[in-house]
Amino acid sequence: MARYTEAVCRICRRENNKLFLKGDRCFAAKCSFERRAQAPGQHGGRRGKSSDYGLQLREKQKVKRSYGMLEKQFKALFSKAERQKGVTGSNLLILLERRLDNVVYRLGFATSRSQARQMVCHGHFQVNGTKVDIPSFLVKNGDVITLKEKSRKNAYILASLETVVRRGMPNWLELDKAAFQGKVVQLPVREELPMQISEQLIVEFYSK
Ligand code: SF4
Repeated sequence: MARYTEAVCRICRRENNKLFLKGDRCFAAKCSFERRAQAPGQHGGRRGKSSDYGLQLREKQKVKRSYGMLEKQFKALFSKAERQKGVTGSNLLILLERRLDNVVYRLGFATSRSQARQMVCHGHFQVNGTKVDIPSFLVKNGDVITLKEKSRKNAYILASLETVVRRGMPNWLELDKAAFQGKVVQLPVREELPMQISEQLIVEFYSK
């Protein structure tokens, strides 16, 4: 499986945004972005004025990297968003939120999306009683995501559930901690997504 190999805190500094890629460290004073927000590299201190293309590219990169996706996957999801009814930019963000790895992260079973992706790939979760090990699986309204019985003593998952409050739970998901189970109570809506994103810039980027 292709993956990023760059040090993840450099990605936040490059995108000039906290992307919360490193779990609990992102909420601590140790966060590299909090300590040194300038772009990585020798000339990182100089962030010049960006062109329209530059702004569009950075917004696309920010969202893509935040969800830990590669260009090919991200573009495919954008095409899917374009084919749906409604506003393409909002459709894209909602599709990103509906990915199983994101849902596992949002429910608090993992401290980061990359950790969630690994857990999904290792087959720790079931959706409506069936094992699903595909991170890009899109959840639907009413789906129930359950941690497999055998995985309920996993130290990483237990530790992550302890700190879920700090990360916050979106309204469209419901967690039953005692049952190691989460439910999609409604599909996410654009206005409820926490990250500051100008999705129109992403649409403009791919419309060229
Ligand atoms: Fe980004 Fe988290 Fe690293 Fe901070 S600690 S720079 S938010 S990945």
